[in-house]
Amino acid sequence: MSRIAYVNGAYVPLSHAYVHIEDRGYQFADGIYEGIAVRRGRMVDLEPHLNRLWRSLGELSIQAPMDRGPMTAVFKEVIRQNRARDAFLYIQVTRGVAKRDHGFPADSWPALVITCRRVDFDQVAARAKAGVKAVSHPDIRWGRCDVKSVSLLPNVLAKQAARDAGAFETVLVDKDGFVTEGSSTNIWMVTKDGTLVTRSTADNILPGITRMTVSELAHGHQMVIEERAFSLEEAKDAAELFLTSSTAGAMPIIELDGNKIGDGTPGPVASRLAAAYMDFMNA
Ligand code: PMP
Repeated sequence: MSRIAYVNGAYVPLSHAYVHIEDRGYQFADGIYEGIAVRRGRMVDLEPHLNRLWRSLGELSIQAPMDRGPMTAVFKEVIRQNRARDAFLYIQVTRGVAKRDHGFPADSWPALVITCRRVDFDQVAARAKAGVKAVSHPDIRWGRCDVKSVSLLPNVLAKQAARDAGAFETVLVDKDGFVTEGSSTNIWMVTKDGTLVTRSTADNILPGITRMTVSELAHGHQMVIEERAFSLEEAKDAAELFLTSSTAGAMPIIELDGNKIGDGTPGPVASRLAAAYMDFMNA
């Protein structure tokens, strides 16, 4: 069965899903997106994703294409038409189609595009058991990384650096040597005394929804969390490192820039959180 996309009011086969060449998302990356995991047909953390979507729109003064209720109904219909059980729902809103001019157009209508692709969460769980490798890369992004903008070229280049190095993710490092986040994930370390450390969302990173849920799960397991910047050197010397994202869950990092993290296998804290997040998705 071919995949079905939602494009500005219509459900269409992916092979026929097009937007206008003067869409401002295409010409200026003038748009935002969301990504929601679907587990056993149910959207994971739907409300926080909707909150972040509306926040991103508000920060860029892009009008919402519809209210939350109808938008949720469209999400469900895309999932239904794709017969998706385990999947990733991608939602993109741009400022819409207008004659090319940098300033906001007076009369454009926001464009909404939604796609859905399958995800094998058994494979994700297996990867979490093995752990993944990461490499570091300078964070060359802008000062509004809290907005989930489709302007992702620096993230694209960073992810490719990981692929070129045979790694799963790139750990981005700011000009002062501190880890910001991954190219499409949030980054955490576990210190030798067992404290979880992750950068504050007030410090120019994306407020990850998985980061939030994993924080809650960690609190539930009586783990101590510190929100602060940590350097690349600290990360390399940490007891454990892991990343979080909607499709990866909590994923142990076992190697950074060729240095083993801990003993080079997934540590107990990250492994416990990976399992707890999987249970949360399954609940
Ligand atoms: N940081 C960045 C830069 C991302 O692109 C993502 C994934 N969209 C994340 C973190 C993780 O966010 P979430 O847990 O909401 O998927």
